[in-house]
Amino acid sequence: MPAGDQESEFIQIAHRKKSEREAGLRRIVAVKYSFHFILWLATTSITLGQSDPQSREMNQPVPPFRIAGNLYYLGAKEICSFLITTPQGHIILDGGFAETAPQIERNLAQLGFKIEDVKILLNSHAHLDHAGGLAELKQKSGAKFIASAGDAELLRNGGHGDFRFGDTLLFPPVAIDQIIGDGETIQLGGQKLTAWLTPGHTRGNTTWTTKISDGAKTYDVVFAGSPTALDYKLVGKESYPGIAADFEKTFTVLKKLPCDIFLSDHGTFFWFLKKREGLMRGDNPNPFIDPDGYKRFIAHFEKEFHEKLEAQKKAAASGTPAPE
Ligand SMILES: [Zn+2]
Repeated sequence: MPAGDQESEFIQIAHRKKSEREAGLRRIVAVKYSFHFILWLATTSITLGQSDPQSREMNQPVPPFRIAGNLYYLGAKEICSFLITTPQGHIILDGGFAETAPQIERNLAQLGFKIEDVKILLNSHAHLDHAGGLAELKQKSGAKFIASAGDAELLRNGGHGDFRFGDTLLFPPVAIDQIIGDGETIQLGGQKLTAWLTPGHTRGNTTWTTKISDGAKTYDVVFAGSPTALDYKLVGKESYPGIAADFEKTFTVLKKLPCDIFLSDHGTFFWFLKKREGLMRGDNPNPFIDPDGYKRFIAHFEKEFHEKLEAQKKAAASGTPAPE
């Protein structure tokens, strides 16, 4: 559906307190997108993720399945995790919430693969709904964890000191074995993946690309990192210095990447459930092959970013508080 004819997006921030001692500040950030997207970032502690209704909904189990060739889906309903298998071991991108890790392990086993054969772990970005399960997956697999420098600190300290969320969205800390830079590649068993830094949503938000062969065809696959600006400050005292320029860079990078199979860290970003349903039905061509969807995704979030930027500029010029 076209982005333009939907209601305008809004950000709603609700603060709910249990007791300071018990739960600290319990914060839910809900972002509703004009695609009818709802993205939730929830909870304050590692153990609260599953007790929050929104997180639970995002973390609903989905039977694992093959997307194409040696590329599989391991994640939950909204929180994605991907597997790439090779003869020399496997690669997992994203670990979901801490509570998603056991689901990912079960899904891996259900597909007939062993956790000990997972050799490399990757991450889209250092938020609790994508990095929370990495520590457990690393511990169970003994895999090497490769991450960007921009997100390294958050990953190592379990989300403390996030430029927007402070110490409220925590997850199990995970040790990093290798830092990857912009445009650098990793290789395992003939599979090459490239890291593209697409910062803004987090400082080290990373988009990964690879090629997947399926039958006689080879596809360019993009695992797009979150491009959402949430309620970040983009003008004046920015959420972090250079954040607006980072987002601009991110959209430029995303637009340059060739894409046949379009994937991302949140299911709603790429119409995951609908495509999965189509694939299960045997739709041909494979519904995950969606270059147009990739372009619409970028256009939607680039427009949204610029609208936020302009609104904040206007508000700054008139001396009124920026609308959220
Ligand atoms: Zn995020």
